Amino acid sequence: MVDFSLSDTERDIRDWVRNFVQRELVPLEPEVLRRERAGERGLTKDEQRELQDKAKQAGFWGVQTPEEYGGMGLSAVMTALIEVELGRTFVPFRFGGYADNILYYANDDQKERYLLPTIEGTRKSCFAITEPGAGSDAKNLRTTAVKDGDEWVINGEKTFITGGIDADFVMVFAVTDREKGANGGVTCFLADRDAGWKSEPIDIMGPWERQPAALVFENVRVPERNVLGEVGHGFKLAMQWIGRGRYLLPAHALGACERLVEMGMEYAKTRETFGKPIAERQAIQWMIADSAVEIEALRWLVLQAAWQVDQGMDSRHAQSVAKLFGATRANEIVDRVLQMHGGMGYTKELPVERWYRDLRLLRIFEGTDEIQRRTVARNLLKGHASIGGVLG
Ligand SMILES: Cc1cc2nc3c(=O)[nH]c(=O)nc-3n(C[C@H](O)[C@H](O)[C@H](O)COP(=O)(O)OP(=O)(O)OC[C@H]3O[C@@H](n4cnc5c(N)ncnc54)[C@H](O)[C@@H]3O)c2cc1C
Repeated sequence: MVDFSLSDTERDIRDWVRNFVQRELVPLEPEVLRRERAGERGLTKDEQRELQDKAKQAGFWGVQTPEEYGGMGLSAVMTALIEVELGRTFVPFRFGGYADNILYYANDDQKERYLLPTIEGTRKSCFAITEPGAGSDAKNLRTTAVKDGDEWVINGEKTFITGGIDADFVMVFAVTDREKGANGGVTCFLADRDAGWKSEPIDIMGPWERQPAALVFENVRVPERNVLGEVGHGFKLAMQWIGRGRYLLPAHALGACERLVEMGMEYAKTRETFGKPIAERQAIQWMIADSAVEIEALRWLVLQAAWQVDQGMDSRHAQSVAKLFGATRANEIVDRVLQMHGGMGYTKELPVERWYRDLRLLRIFEGTDEIQRRTVARNLLKGHASIGGVLG
């Protein structure tokens, strides 16, 4: 039997996050907007930490971090439900106690130096695979690492690296065997900032916390003990990092869409034209109806992908489907809500245009729409997935 209901515990956790967002984050929205418009961070590091500590007191720390590392070790479905709630505000908050999934492949010494401080929040990581000539075509890496005694010497350039501006260390992917390439010739290195790599911010249309950096490696020396995992296994690690929770991106967007449509309905009920609220016009009602239907469909796609993760199934197809649908629908929905607000939607008085710019990124990073379509079509054509998904 298929059971779509949440357990009491799941509902309690979701409701706690919903209240936290409403109580602690939503009131910060006007100030976050003001700061972002002045070119500043939405939340300072101290404010972020203070909020994280508040949540920690209630047990919210390391949502997906295994319990042995002090985290909550929650399921993928639960994490998706939490992400939807966080998406309901544009205040750039995330719960503390998080570390990149691939850092768990670290050996004991690396765990002490990188994993544990990242979970604790005292060190900040960034993930660098993209290069000027290798984005969607990630196998086309040009950055090299050459062995010299018990050190590796890294040369090359990375681009669009989130968090690259202020990260303490980078998980950088470099070619260590050109012949083997992505099949055994790419290695991941943990490179501290003081090893000498440089970062340069890249201006973007999105908000401050999205701002990525270009990283330059010029004869950056990294000791052998800083190889993450095994030499030659880097490409697999990179794919694992990207696949860590593709469903979480559309989950976040889903929360934003819910909030946006609520805002749109509120506005439509009060804004009058030709003697009637615009909510009474079919053109506006269809925007609301189409958005609501798409939000519901997206919820099922996201939860189904997360459920597959929890079942230990190969969820890559379901995650691509959810990411693709989420990215395209969220962009359509924010566009409709902006339209419903008329000229006001285009101003900086309301946060709609802020969401509009932010959601646009979803169609590009962690696999563009076109690359998701390519994956979905290939899976179907090769028989790795069937039309209709697991219930089809
Ligand atoms: C704000 C931001 C943050 C990012 N953060 C990170 C990060 O932290 N770490 C990191 O490593 N990278 C990061 N990226 C990089 C991101 O993953 C890449 O930008 C993305 O994968 C697309 O690569 P590209 O920009 O080189 O575009 P390209 O690959 O050059 O693509 C250009 C266009 O061609 C299309 N296209 C490409 N190949 C095909 C094909 N075979 N068939 C059909 N269409 C195709 C694409 O879909 C796109 O529309 C970030 C990017 C941005 C914008």
